[in-house]
Amino acid sequence: MTVANGRALLAIPGPTNIPDRVLQAMIRPAEEIYSGAMVGLTDSLLSDLQKVFRTRARTYIYAANGHGGWEAAISNVLSRGDKILVLASGRFAIGWGDMARFMGADVEILEGSWRASVDPAAVEERLRRDTKHEIKAVIMVQIDTASGVLNDVQAVRKAIDAAGHPALYMVDGVASLACMPYEMDAWGVDVTMSAAQKGLMTPPGLAFVAANDKAHKAHQTANMKTLYWDWTARQGEQHYMKYCGTPPEHLLFALRAALDMILEEGLEAVWKRHQLLAEATHAAVSKWSEGQVLSMNVLEGAQRAPSVTPVLVQGVSPEIIADYAQKICGVTLGSGIGELSGKAFRIAHMGHVNAPMVIGTLSAIEMALAANNIPHGAGGVAAAIAHLAHKTSVHGGEHAETPRLGVGAPEIAPV
Ligand SMILES: *Cc1c(COP(=O)(O)O)cnc(C)c1O
Repeated sequence: MTVANGRALLAIPGPTNIPDRVLQAMIRPAEEIYSGAMVGLTDSLLSDLQKVFRTRARTYIYAANGHGGWEAAISNVLSRGDKILVLASGRFAIGWGDMARFMGADVEILEGSWRASVDPAAVEERLRRDTKHEIKAVIMVQIDTASGVLNDVQAVRKAIDAAGHPALYMVDGVASLACMPYEMDAWGVDVTMSAAQKGLMTPPGLAFVAANDKAHKAHQTANMKTLYWDWTARQGEQHYMKYCGTPPEHLLFALRAALDMILEEGLEAVWKRHQLLAEATHAAVSKWSEGQVLSMNVLEGAQRAPSVTPVLVQGVSPEIIADYAQKICGVTLGSGIGELSGKAFRIAHMGHVNAPMVIGTLSAIEMALAANNIPHGAGGVAAAIAHLAHKTSVHGGEHAETPRLGVGAPEIAPV
């Protein structure tokens, strides 16, 4: 017996659920690529991406997935033989480093944990030892989607500064942009890359890079440049060269709709929504963990990503839970990858998600635990609901200071 038919939910950490408004924005004829409408669309996207990256730095849009964004970032600022320091906290920074190695960089990995954030003190210590300043770039992910680790971008900047090191600071924001605070300029990040299909709620196929003056200075002498990714070629007046060829038109229309939704909700409100839904997820997992089979991968609460939660499963295959959620409930969970392969499932709460979607996902997991007799603390979903109820309560929680209409308050006519 299954109760799966109905609206299917994707709870994987990318691609994420695409809002209907974004899907509908793509149902239109193709445009003349040199038209004023296309040029205007590109200009609006480049400047609204600055709002999301919180930067005045120049932004670039590529017809590419996140890996393309990685290559774009590296190729524009590095030369073959340059040393880079990769700050590991799971799989994704290492993946970015692998690409750099393939392109001719000398890659050093600062080993980290799959269960904790990059340690800024270790970064400072390593950079202090680089007295000749051979390290040209330090690369890190804000959120590692495989481990669920959240890194402190600002603290690592401070560590680089404390070491007095001139390396470029390059950050991957694929699984964090439009999911949590990110302040490219205030935090002193030189290059940020991201992609469309996670917090930005857009179909896969677009990558974004923002690069400040320091990065553009490095760009002048970088010899890994190739024409497709080259920033200089994309800076001119010629619209065609902004994409080094035909613009990915329909994805751009989709991105326009997604950015409109994000900016209409308000970036801070989007961050807050993710925070609350992550807390609700953590509340459920922590209850279930009482059964000694499930547990959180990331040990410290403050180091857990607000966009994805990997859950370790001991003594039982995580596939049993994921298969049940999909086949019986119509919810697709993320599988464990890398070190967590076969040992975890991942719950994404990223992008176009609201309380019923996350509570529904958690409910499917709780059903899977019960139906398969997997030991778990009872009441995980109830704990998630109680948390959200408290945080959104008109009597307390997040809205304690917000004036509300109570019993006997004057009616305000809708405008
Ligand atoms: C998904 C992801 C990527 C890779 O994006 P693709 O579009 O799959 O190439 C890179 N970094 C992080 C942190 C991601 O979550």
